Amino acid sequence: MAKKIDQKCSICGRPEKDVNLLFTGMDGNICDTCIENAYHILQETMGDSQPKSAAKKTQEQFAQHKLYKPKEIKAFLDQYVIGQDEAKKVMSVAMYNHYKRLMHPPQDDVEIEKSNIIMVGETGTGKTLLAKSMARLLQLPFAVVDATVFTQAGYVGEDVESILSRLLQSCNYDVAAAERGIVYIDEIDKIGRKGDNPSITRDVSGEGVQQSLLKLLEGSDVLVPPEGGRKHPDQKMVKVNTQNILFICAGAFEGIDKMISRRVQTTSIGYNAIKTSNELDRANLLQYVNAQDLRSFGLIPELLGRLPIVTYLNPLDKDALKRILTEPKNALIKQYTRLFELEDIALEVSDEALDYMVDKAIEFKLGGRGLRAICEMILTDAMFELPSQEVKDKHFILDKSYAMQKLEKSKLGLISAA
Ligand code: ADP
Repeated sequence: MAKKIDQKCSICGRPEKDVNLLFTGMDGNICDTCIENAYHILQETMGDSQPKSAAKKTQEQFAQHKLYKPKEIKAFLDQYVIGQDEAKKVMSVAMYNHYKRLMHPPQDDVEIEKSNIIMVGETGTGKTLLAKSMARLLQLPFAVVDATVFTQAGYVGEDVESILSRLLQSCNYDVAAAERGIVYIDEIDKIGRKGDNPSITRDVSGEGVQQSLLKLLEGSDVLVPPEGGRKHPDQKMVKVNTQNILFICAGAFEGIDKMISRRVQTTSIGYNAIKTSNELDRANLLQYVNAQDLRSFGLIPELLGRLPIVTYLNPLDKDALKRILTEPKNALIKQYTRLFELEDIALEVSDEALDYMVDKAIEFKLGGRGLRAICEMILTDAMFELPSQEVKDKHFILDKSYAMQKLEKSKLGLISAA
């Protein structure tokens, strides 16, 4: 048998036994050390000897993104969210400024601050939908979390750091992507300070959580348990910098209108009157909400300081609910029409049936969210029966009497009748 010749690196001459890896080519070999050296020389000659800083990388990644103008962002939101013009405008500007902040490093001591947002509005008025639509347009990682599951570190419940675990999970643990994502924290009103005297019992799920949220919101390096939940000593942690993560907090803040009313009435007497009281739109006081009212509701000033943009969502009236059923890009009726179409059934919904569904949604006080449940209850029987019927040119008309008959038989109908 021919003796194996001991090969060596054609560059440095070291034999195979003295190197970690030897790559064999057509007329020569190269060892791992020579590859590494060659790589460094190449970097130096190409003028890119310094590894890029994380900030520079982020700026470059953002530069590749299309920079949507505020009007373009709003036009996109209009396709999915009905009404809520003020909130859309505020969010479009906040998002645009957020992008500008990321693309332009601080100059001459002027640093653009983060535009974290707080949204106030009844449940089911489109708060989550707005944030979700925004993330969709900008193609950013997006996580929705509920503030009520968190407790102050060290107590039973989830640590706030697991907010970032969700964000990491949403982008397959790509830390760089997560570091420019959007986090939506729902039910922020439920972690209001409980009462004025915190010394009686420790407020671990109210003010304690607000305190824990501060370091996340202000932008710092946070050690995150990748799987979420509670931290424990032998868990591997991932470091996430929250400097460029946009936080959108939202809540219904039930009863805040009384606080607004009290404040507005007092101010309207003084010289700095916002509006004279007969100019006020008393039916919708939410539009005058500001940080002072949120503070009266129990949010601590430090937290409010890190959520500089306050906006509101209007309650949905009959007209808005009807439009939600039919107008948005993925409106409920469009979705059902498509589902029926896939069975070769033409679905036709009468105007009276739409009005009836809207009236019921108002009656059940479920906001936009209730429309889905109502449609489902009305259409389940038809979706069950029709696909098995062997009739040519299938056509299904959903009119008011059909809707009434189905809904009154359903659980929701029974609850409302009780
Ligand atoms: P919340 O304000 O409680 O976060 P959501 O955004 O989750 O409410 O709304 C629940 C559902 O109701 C949405 O998925 C959507 O189908 C519908 N909806 C609510 N408000 C609107 C709106 N302004 N425009 C379009 N759909 C809406």
